[in-house]
Order: sequence, then structure tokens, then C-alpha cells
Amino acid sequence: MDKIVSLAKRRGFVFQSSEIYGGLNGCWDYGPLGVELLNNLKQSWWRAMTYRDDIEGVDASILMHPRVWEASGHVANFTDPMVDCRQCKARYRVDVLMDELNTKKKKDVLRELYPGEFDGQQPDERIASEFAARIAGDEATAKALTVIACPNCGTKSSFTEARQFNLMFKTFVGPVEDSNNVVYLRPETAQGIFVNFLNVQNASRQKLPFGIAQIGKAFRNEINTKNFLFRTREFEQMEMQYFVKPGEEDRFFEYWRGERMNWFLSLGMKPEHLQWHKHEKLAHYAKAAFDIEFKFPFGWGEVEGIHSRTDFDLGSHEKFSGKAMKYFDEQSKEKFVPYVIETSVGASRSFMAFLCAAFDEEMVEGEMRTVLRFHPSLAPMKAAVLPLVNRDGMDDIARSMTRELQKHFRVFYDDSGAIGRRYRRQDEIGTPYCFTVDSQTLQDRTVTVRERDSMQQERIAMDAVKEYLLTRIHP
Ligand code: ATP
Repeated sequence: MDKIVSLAKRRGFVFQSSEIYGGLNGCWDYGPLGVELLNNLKQSWWRAMTYRDDIEGVDASILMHPRVWEASGHVANFTDPMVDCRQCKARYRVDVLMDELNTKKKKDVLRELYPGEFDGQQPDERIASEFAARIAGDEATAKALTVIACPNCGTKSSFTEARQFNLMFKTFVGPVEDSNNVVYLRPETAQGIFVNFLNVQNASRQKLPFGIAQIGKAFRNEINTKNFLFRTREFEQMEMQYFVKPGEEDRFFEYWRGERMNWFLSLGMKPEHLQWHKHEKLAHYAKAAFDIEFKFPFGWGEVEGIHSRTDFDLGSHEKFSGKAMKYFDEQSKEKFVPYVIETSVGASRSFMAFLCAAFDEEMVEGEMRTVLRFHPSLAPMKAAVLPLVNRDGMDDIARSMTRELQKHFRVFYDDSGAIGRRYRRQDEIGTPYCFTVDSQTLQDRTVTVRERDSMQQERIAMDAVKEYLLTRIHP
């Protein structure tokens, strides 16, 4: 992970937000290559999800009417229990605090709470499972908290009682900062889709089943931000809500699970780096929920959730707004609230997954080669154009070729240093193709193409370069 974070900074993918002021926790800035990669990723999702007949796009505002978040359940339920250390003021999410205790500490807690029972030697697995079983539920957790030491300052019995902490950022509209003017930065993009369900349906004349897609920023005041872009306070989501007739949700749930897994695979992810995680504990309104998990360097982590949400969201907005959210089925002449299948993927979190999946190091002729093996459609630079040497007009040809290609693609011109060095610099940022103009180019208008992963070279006509790139970027 450290290598990836340092490459990301050095080559201009991701910087710490407000770095010169010491940074702002949980916020990151995308640099010149990062913004290209992020845009390509979003574009790829947008193409996959909306370049079809049954899905429409929207771009809703980040600030919404505060009642939206009452209807969605976020005001009441979007909370994490947390405790503060009275001694050093460090703040912890209770579940994370418990999860991160090592076996010895878990055993200490069990011994204090259950004197005599855990004095001898017990295998680690037994301690772990006893801890999980006995420290479950609010009361048991509260008791455990009285004997756990603060990981930061080491003081025992220093935690406050657990408080529910709402993860939504609050702010005010207008000049008066009182409770009547509270608004929230949206914690998800989904609600902008639900509240526009009928607007979109009427405007586009879509019939069920159909979906609405949106890409946009979301904000969560996460208590523990960690692992680079994995859990941040400001991030971007790509969400799609697919509206179906009640009774058809299981079929479409399976369909969307397949589509979404294929999206990751089609962009070059290896099947062994992806897995399904089935939710056993479901929200009361949910029928089924699966996550796609990616194997990050620190372990498996969710990148996308696919949820069968019944009519909960539209039904709830109907109640809270007093406006009908029903669909009129012309065939059966029935009116009903559609069921919803949601696909929700983090743009920033999957950016990180694609970066980790692409990162590779290998020994080539006794030297370490760092290479980002991005799929050509995601790669920030699609190609580099390199004059072998800066004379005999090779640089002029290379420059005019670059200008021509730049009408269609992000292309990099580089004439400095040995050609081998220049290839390595492109490998490190994941540029899939390097076109080199050499003395033969002057005679027959051909160039060499060097492919990043195989490092193989072939000659093609200069006039065929654009087509060559097009067919590989959007196969
Ligand atoms: P987690 O349990 O990891 O907090 P979640 O289950 O709350 O995630 P959802 O509400 O289902 O996540 O959000 C859908 C997607 O949005 C996630 O799969 C993830 O890719 C992304 N996401 C959610 N929270 C964050 C965050 N704090 N930082 C970056 N991406 C996030």
C-alpha cells in the first residue's frame, strides 16, 4: 500500500487535501493523472449504464430539502455508536475499537468480566469466538468498555458512555443559523434519484422496468477514515436505481449482479481479486443485498453494493411528501409503487481498487520495472509519442503526430532522455502504447508501437495510429 500511495503522489494521481497546511483528514485531491483516470472510470460506468434504452441519467443537487433525509431514514438511523477517552480526548467507533483488539487484549477483557473462566491456556480461535459471542449487544459492550484501555493513551476505564453520532454533515441555508434552516450535505446520491422518479419517467416516457443513474459527490463524517481513498469524508458515488414491477425484483436482482461483476471484469480486473459478500443481516425493508469485494493490499473490502430494496424508498417519500409516487401501468390499468434494485459503487473507492489491481513490479534485464497495467480505456494517457532522437525532422514529425492524436485522446509527447528511460516513465503511469518515430519513419512513414505489458514492438503505418488506438480503447 505504501508503494502505491507514494507512486500516486510522485506521479500526480492523488495528493493530500490542503497538504501545505498539514492536510485535512479524510479528504484527497486528484492530480493531473488522477483526474484523467477518475474521469475515464466515471465515463466507463456512464457508458455501461446509460448507453442503452432503459436507463436515463440525472445530476441532482448536493443540497436537498431536509425532509428527504427524514424520509430516507438517515436523520434517525445513519449513526455510528462512538466513545471518547476522558483522558486524552481521542474518539473511537465502538465496533472498530472492539474489532481491533488483539487476542491478548480480548482475553484480558474476558478474564476481568468472567473471573476464573479464562485463566488457563485457550487457543486464539476460542478466545476470538468467545469474545464475539459474549461482547455482543449494547449492555455487554458497555461493560467491556469499562475494562478496555484507550489505545492512544493507555488509560483504563476512561471511556465515556457510547453516544450515537450522526454521519451527515450539517450546514445552514440563508443567513440565519438556526434549526429551521438546517440542510445536510448528501450522504449518498440515491435520494436525488428517488425524488426525481416521476419527473424522469414523465419526461422520458419510460415504461417499467427502467432505471435512473447518477454520478456525484457524497459526504459522510466518518469517525475513522483510513486506508487512503477507501474510507474518506468526501467521495464520489455512481449509483443506479432500477424500477421494476413488484414480483419481478428477484430476476432483475440476479441480472444486475451479473452486469455489475462483468463491468469490473471487462475493465481488466482478475476474477480472483473479486468476490461476493452476502449480507446476512438485512435492513427491515431489504429483500437481498450482496457486495462486490475487491482484494486490497490490506484485505478484502466492499467496492459496490447491489441491493433489492422493495418499495421502501419511493413509499417512504410518498408518506413524507404527501405526493403520490405511483406508476400507472397502461396494460393492467393498475397504479402501484415500483420495487427497486440498487447498484451503488464508489468512484473513488473503485479508483483505488483499479490502481491497486494495476500496480505491478517485475525484474526486466536486472532492473526493477514498475508498471501500472490499466485497461487502455482507463489509462490516464492513451499513448506517448517519442522521437528517437531530436534531429533529421524526427521531432517535427512526432510533434505533428501528437497534435493530430490529441484531437481524440490524451497523448503525451516526450523527447528527453534515452528511449528506454522514456518507456519506463510511461510504464509507471500506465500508458498502454508508445509510438516511436525513428529514421525509418522518414523513409516509409511507419512508426514502432511498443505495448506496455508485453513490451513487444511492431511497425505500423503512421496513418493507422488513430484507428489502432480507437479499437483498443473501446474494444
Ligand atoms: P462501508 O460499510 O464501507 O462504510 P457502506 O456499506 O456504508 O460502506 P454504501 O452506503 O452501500 O456503503 O455505499 C455504496 C458505495 O459507496 C460503497 O460500496 C463504497 O464504494 C462507497 N463508499 C461508501 N462510503 C464511502 C467512504 N466513506 N469513502 C469512500 N467510498 C465510500
